[in-house]
Amino acid sequence: MPTDLSALTEDLIRDADGLFAGLLRNAMIGVYIIQDDLFRYANPRFADMFGYTQDEICNLLGPDDLVTPGEQAKVRDAIGTRLDGLSDTAHYSFEGVRKDGSRIDLEVFGNRTEFDGRPAIIGMLVDITARCAAERTANERLNFIGQLIEAIPSPLFFKDAEARYLGCNKAFEAFIRRPRDELIGRSVFDISPPELAARYHEADQALFDEPGVQTYEASVEAADGMRRDVIFNKATWLRADGSMGGLVGVITDITERKQTEALVWVQANYDPLTGLPNRRLLHDRLGELMKKAHRDHASVAVLYIDLDRFKEVNDALGHEAGDQLLIEAARRIVGCVRESDTVARQGGDEFTVLLPGLSERTPVERIAEDIIAAIDHPFRLGNDLAYVSASIGVTFFPQDALTPTDILKNADQAMYHAKDAGKNRFSYFSPSMQEHALQRLQLGKDLRSALAEAQLELHFQPILHLVSGEVRKAEALLRWNHPTRGQIPPDEFIPVAEELGLIDAIGTWVFERAIDFILRWRALHPPPAGMPCPLQIAVNASPQQFLRGQSLEVLMLRLESVGLPGSCIAIEITEGLLLDEQPAVIAQLARLSAAGIQVSIDDFGTGYSAMAYLKRLDIDTLKIDRSFVRDLTTDPGDLAITEAIIAMAHKLDIKVVAEGVETLAQRERLSAAGCDYSQGFLFSRPLPEAAFFDLIAPTTP
Ligand code: C2E
Ligand code: CA
Ligand code: CA
Repeated sequence: MPTDLSALTEDLIRDADGLFAGLLRNAMIGVYIIQDDLFRYANPRFADMFGYTQDEICNLLGPDDLVTPGEQAKVRDAIGTRLDGLSDTAHYSFEGVRKDGSRIDLEVFGNRTEFDGRPAIIGMLVDITARCAAERTANERLNFIGQLIEAIPSPLFFKDAEARYLGCNKAFEAFIRRPRDELIGRSVFDISPPELAARYHEADQALFDEPGVQTYEASVEAADGMRRDVIFNKATWLRADGSMGGLVGVITDITERKQTEALVWVQANYDPLTGLPNRRLLHDRLGELMKKAHRDHASVAVLYIDLDRFKEVNDALGHEAGDQLLIEAARRIVGCVRESDTVARQGGDEFTVLLPGLSERTPVERIAEDIIAAIDHPFRLGNDLAYVSASIGVTFFPQDALTPTDILKNADQAMYHAKDAGKNRFSYFSPSMQEHALQRLQLGKDLRSALAEAQLELHFQPILHLVSGEVRKAEALLRWNHPTRGQIPPDEFIPVAEELGLIDAIGTWVFERAIDFILRWRALHPPPAGMPCPLQIAVNASPQQFLRGQSLEVLMLRLESVGLPGSCIAIEITEGLLLDEQPAVIAQLARLSAAGIQVSIDDFGTGYSAMAYLKRLDIDTLKIDRSFVRDLTTDPGDLAITEAIIAMAHKLDIKVVAEGVETLAQRERLSAAGCDYSQGFLFSRPLPEAAFFDLIAPTTP
């Protein structure tokens, strides 16, 4: 039929109600009528939605033409049920297809109606593409956030405003060892032990009372029953209307960080070798003890312990043995004090003991003596036995000083005093020690420039051959002409040089001057044939020169380069150096002996009386100490000792020099006892080089 149905419909509707027709034409919603699977009517908006003209739709297209294939069944079904009279209305959405093939999301409100006297569907369509797109985006976002939360390795959870769990991520499930199904809708009281739950609940409430963020550290029990240190970070979230929505929480496991921090603290405060507190922790503890003592009107005693001869053991037996000794020494010291006392290692072979609550000298003395006795026992280091001793300085807070630095300085000075007084003992701090220490400090400074500024000088003291009356030897003795203090005796500055590590340089200088002297002497008085060395110079050497440094090396090289026989020089050493026959010392002695250089034992009889070394080592001369010679004519004991030394030495083919011979009577006694040489003021004091030349020139050929 050629009749334009759509125009007809328009007419009909216009007839029915002109206003309604206008509405339909201009409506922003699509209006349609379906009958016999064809659109009988479509308003302009409807046609527009699908990109057709009204004429292209009406009576030509059916629902299937405008619905995506996947939704056609649904739409057909909805239309069918209404036409069958099963339902009058339908409300659903579907995806439509436009003329150009693009898609459109639509919401439909359909009604059964009559058209041309037969059943039909009249409906309205709303374009919901934008809304659907927004929903899709929102869903995607939610999905993304969900995945993100799952992927976060830190445990994370959400709670509502009643502090019931809303959700969590996998890490949280693992952390509390429960699947989220068991969590959602529950509170901490349902899952944590009561006292923990109460704490968490309190924290949640605090956050709800004062919305914002909250951070706190806690210690929790992990799956394996181990304690873990964690940080809780929680924040409230609000609904769009501003009411409290709940909270979100993240847990950060900081157990490892805490452990590292603890380890770093231990490393910074403890000595790795002995496990004792180090210098740093010592200062802290001392500071604390001082504060407490101040409050309680009490005292703190501080002991500064230095191991005597440790460096020699370390050099001779190696660092590993040295370490063993330190560990053992630490153990012994700890064994002498109460558990509440602090024993610290200051570094090297120095230890410090803090004794709080002791102001009386008696118990402190007992502890100091215990430590000295404990260290005095030989140390077994592998196959070796090592002998060291302890020198201890004692000082008191608040009696002697008021700051940790001053207290430790005092204790150090008192310790040096104990060393100077002969080691293996303790000494109390006194103000005069402080004075002394200051002087020593100044002396050390001055000594550094003494060599460069030619303030040192060698004097020579003749040593007389008793049988012939000839001067065959002389001892070189060091003098320091200090620019302001005048001449400083070697007994005063040699120990300072040793302490400051200057002795090797000074020793080298002494050797060089001694060789120069011999060369000058020989230039004036050429040695007769068959007597390569009519005048031997004895030079003192410190133990340190034997154990460290280059001075002996320089001596041997110099002698060789100037063509002097080694027998022109004798080295004077003290017994202490030979005591435990350290390999390094024995090797040096062998090299000296190979170079023809003689070795004398100085101050014999005053040190340790382990004389076994005399028969094993290549010793040429013993020098009987001045203290025996002094009372030789009055003390029968000293005479007996002197005679015994001479007899023993001769049996071992060793020559004897008596030191400090001041009287004729002494010299006669020594001659009678068979002593070989005499040295002392009786014949001559030590003299400057020129005076010495004058003195002995006539006695040599
Ligand atoms: P020493 O090796 O025992 O030297 C002998 C000391 O006795 C010298 O003291 C000397 O002046 C003194 N003396 C000599 N005859 C008599 C006497 O009849 N009566 C008295 N009362 N004393 C006498 P000096 O020169 O003061 O030296 C002291 C110490 O300094 C030396 O003792 C020695 O151990 C050390 N010394 C001196 N020069 C050097 C050196 O170049 N290197 C090293 N390492 N030490 C040195
Ligand atoms: Ca000497
Ligand atoms: Ca001597």
